[in-house]
Order: sequence, then structure tokens, then C-alpha cells
Amino acid sequence: MTGSRRDRRRRNLQNARLARTNWLYRPEDVVELYGICRNTLTNWVKTGLVRLEHEGRHLFRGDDLNAFHRQRREDAKRPCEFYEVHCFACKCKHSLLQVNFETQLTRFGDVRLAIECPDRGKPTAKRVTREQLERIVAMRESSPKTKTPD
Ligand SMILES: [Zn+2]
Repeated sequence: MTGSRRDRRRRNLQNARLARTNWLYRPEDVVELYGICRNTLTNWVKTGLVRLEHEGRHLFRGDDLNAFHRQRREDAKRPCEFYEVHCFACKCKHSLLQVNFETQLTRFGDVRLAIECPDRGKPTAKRVTREQLERIVAMRESSPKTKTPD
């Protein structure tokens, strides 16, 4: 039981030395190397993994893969910012500046922000004050990152 839980956590916080430094990986190689699904790779790219384009094909540098996972591991250690949600489904932080959320006013006068984990499709929520929500909305509007193509 504990073994499977540990495995799941390990799947989300990947080994930051798994990829070979000077190698180039095709998307299918990355999927196989980390044992992930294609959607997860798409999400990694959306959340900062550097992707190269060569003659119309996507490639990933081993260095970039390792750096991305090193960053993720460090991210997991620090506490959430007010505009981030700690996701129980994938054990990562999701930025409310990047994912869409639904709001619901609670009877205590604060706001419940509900998101769907972009990795796992599972719901996660956090509570913020109305002022924090206003700041999040303002930050989203001023950030070019929130303009997703889909
Ligand atoms: Zn998640």
C-alpha cells in the first residue's frame, strides 16, 4: 500500500538526472523515458519545459528535461503562493494564473476556487480572500502567459 503511494509520488516528481545531458529526445522518447502519457508531456511544455523545433519536429534536450524536473522538485518544497494551488492529484502546484478556475462565494465571505488538475483531470480547490481573488484576476489579465492557444 505504502509502496504504491510512493510510486505515484515518484511519478510526479521525476528523477532530475534521468535524461542524458547531451542527448536529444523525440516526444515519444520522453514519454517512454518517464513512463508518462502524452498529455502529461503537453502539460510539462505548458508549464515551462523547453521544446525545440527542428525541421517541423519537436525535440527535447536532456539538459532541459533535467533542469525542468530539478525546478519541479524545488517547487514542491516551497510553500504555495496565494495564486497557487497545491494539487492532491499530482502533488504539484498549479498556478491560478495559468489554469482556469471556478469561483464560489463561501458563507464565511471568502472565495472557494476550484480547478481541474491539468495532469490528472481531478478536482482540487483552495480558499482565498476576495482581495486575493481580485489580485489573481488582475494578474491574469496583465500576464501574456494566460493567453492559451486552445
Ligand atoms: Zn495537479
